[in-house]
Amino acid sequence: MSRVQVLILGSGTPNADADRVSAGVAVAVDVQPYLFDCGHGIVQRVVQAHDAGLIPWDSTDLTRLFITHLHADHSVGLPDLLFTPWIHGRDEKLVACGPPGLARMARHLLLAYEENIREHRAAHPSSEDGYQIDAREIGEGPCYLDERVQVHALHANHGDLAALSYKIITPAGTVVISGDTKPVSAFAAWAHGCDVLIHEVYSAAKFGDRPPAWQHYHARVHTSAAELAALARQVEPRLLLLYHQLFWGQTPDELVAEVQSGYDGQVVSTNDLDLFDL
Ligand SMILES: [Zn+2]
Ligand SMILES: [Zn+2]
Repeated sequence: MSRVQVLILGSGTPNADADRVSAGVAVAVDVQPYLFDCGHGIVQRVVQAHDAGLIPWDSTDLTRLFITHLHADHSVGLPDLLFTPWIHGRDEKLVACGPPGLARMARHLLLAYEENIREHRAAHPSSEDGYQIDAREIGEGPCYLDERVQVHALHANHGDLAALSYKIITPAGTVVISGDTKPVSAFAAWAHGCDVLIHEVYSAAKFGDRPPAWQHYHARVHTSAAELAALARQVEPRLLLLYHQLFWGQTPDELVAEVQSGYDGQVVSTNDLDLFDL
């Protein structure tokens, strides 16, 4: 029987936070991690988790990446993910799925680091493939399959930026990751009955204190605690994990209470390095 674990690497947002790096979640089947987003600090969090004995895999096992959208808080760690595990000894290329624009970003990153690549290959023992990226631009539908997982994508609604939610079907159950999105009508049926729903959220209680321009923005591209409660009633996950929380001064317990005022299932407000077994 495979062991499947969800590791919250980064629960943060673009707003700097001493305790939260930006977005990144690993779903690991035994020793193979599947990484969803790579904001800043994600490789560092993998090293921390490994050194703390939380996970049996390490940074050199990071060979599968799924990007929800190309906002920097979900992708700015991509050069770190290309080059640091290579230096640690990764000898496989990184397979990366994501929305249109990902292949161009990958090409430009390799160009930007051309000097580093040239010198590192010449001066150090290093693999030919360990820094390479196989960037696959995807849309809605089944997007990845191997002997451990099936991954499906669904169009999210994050304003003008192409964005995806992901569903990961593993031998031990199904995990759904929202990415950044306003609620989408197709989501509830698509995610229905998943074991773990990992969803972004902002505080509905504090929303009214925000400047009007920001209220307009967040209402258009993100999910409030009240909207998430309504969505969770339809999805009926075994466990709802909050990430990418916009607290705006609420405590984690207060944000959980906001969701639970409209939803009576199990809800956890996650922190970086929280680990959940399926
Ligand atoms: Zn974000
Ligand atoms: Zn975003």
